Amino acid sequence: MVALIRDAWAKAEPYLPEISQFFYGMLFTLAPTTREFFPINMEVQRGRLVRALVHIVQMVDRPDDLVPFLRQLGRDHRKFGVIPQHYEAVGTALLGAMKRQLGPEWTPEVERAWAEAFTIIARSMQEAAAADENPAYWNATVAEHRRLSWDLALVRLEPEHRVPYTAGQYMSVEVPQRPRLWRYLSPANAPRDDGSIEFHIRAVDGGWVSRAIVSHTQAEDVWRLGPPLGRLHVDRGSGNDIVMVGGGTGMAPLRSILDELQGWGQNPNVTLFFGGATRDDLYDLDELRALASVNPWLTVVPVVERGDLPGCEHGTLAEVVAGQGGWPGHDILVSGSPSMIRATVSRMLVAGTALDQITYDPFTID
Ligand SMILES: Cc1cc2nc3c(=O)[nH]c(=O)nc-3n(C[C@H](O)[C@H](O)[C@H](O)COP(=O)(O)OP(=O)(O)OC[C@H]3O[C@@H](n4cnc5c(N)ncnc54)[C@H](O)[C@@H]3O)c2cc1C
Repeated sequence: MVALIRDAWAKAEPYLPEISQFFYGMLFTLAPTTREFFPINMEVQRGRLVRALVHIVQMVDRPDDLVPFLRQLGRDHRKFGVIPQHYEAVGTALLGAMKRQLGPEWTPEVERAWAEAFTIIARSMQEAAAADENPAYWNATVAEHRRLSWDLALVRLEPEHRVPYTAGQYMSVEVPQRPRLWRYLSPANAPRDDGSIEFHIRAVDGGWVSRAIVSHTQAEDVWRLGPPLGRLHVDRGSGNDIVMVGGGTGMAPLRSILDELQGWGQNPNVTLFFGGATRDDLYDLDELRALASVNPWLTVVPVVERGDLPGCEHGTLAEVVAGQGGWPGHDILVSGSPSMIRATVSRMLVAGTALDQITYDPFTID
């Protein structure tokens, strides 16, 4: 089934713009109310949803990873007001767009494989959404917006009600400057008594939401936060030491976990590799070093690709971490851009690390 799905996608992928255009046309005809879930300017949406759907469909042979993720995603989609008929329309539009693009190569067997996979996905998401008793999203007020550098900002929010996240998770976020453009961000702090949440946001080139947040966020803005997602965490009872690998703002969820660990007297040894292209990308390094100086279980290893920085490893995170062996007896957490995660995980596997030692949140749509 998965081979048929992947093979069809390999043929269709070069035509993502055409497929997306047909997909949205059909979706908005079948279920006109879904138009309200998307930004007014559909150009910014591009192939985002189709790519995300196909990514998930192709994971259908990994139910242990996929099902917990789909359940979280189903809960997350409640923020749009999604109803069962919308799932049906999305499935019909996706298969219709693929069929139109692939012509005779879209055989009945291929169609059956895609339809079965989509049904499994939609069912998991809908069941989880129906069972969730939390709000579909939380309103949160901006209490602080501070530029940490020209392209990086810290935003501290005070949610109306406590958001039930655990250290290491992420959530989707909508800001008033960019309605309907939800993006994922990771709290950089462990849950606090006052419920406040800190995000670290880097403005990416041409980025619709990240640039608006960094440049135009105001105190008192009200953001919407979706339900928490993700599986990065430290199991303190496993007896294993920990390796953390964080690239850029991918440090945020690791920072949140460290924040939680420092509340305990005893912890596993944690070796944290914090990497970026240059020293400027290691925005949090001084604070991390300060944290390590009072917590003997923590070792911070800065890694830069360019420039000469004393006390620092040189190269990509993938090269440096895997260059030190397969890390037997360690649990490994990886967080950063999709390309950084891919490179790090594949190098580590070659270096002898077992896949089940490594945790990352792989289901990115960016
Ligand atoms: C699980 C998860 C957690 C995340 N946590 C954080 C976080 O804590 N802080 C944070 O700043 N960001 C985080 N991100 C990234 C964030 O969700 C957005 O993707 C990012 O802010 C860009 O959104 P945008 O609307 O500005 O860019 P878009 O308008 O969507 O994209 C504009 C251009 O930028 C490229 N692009 C998109 N994302 C990135 C990226 N991350 N790096 C480089 N180029 C990119 C796109 O390919 C496109 O060419 C996280 C992403 C995921 C999946």
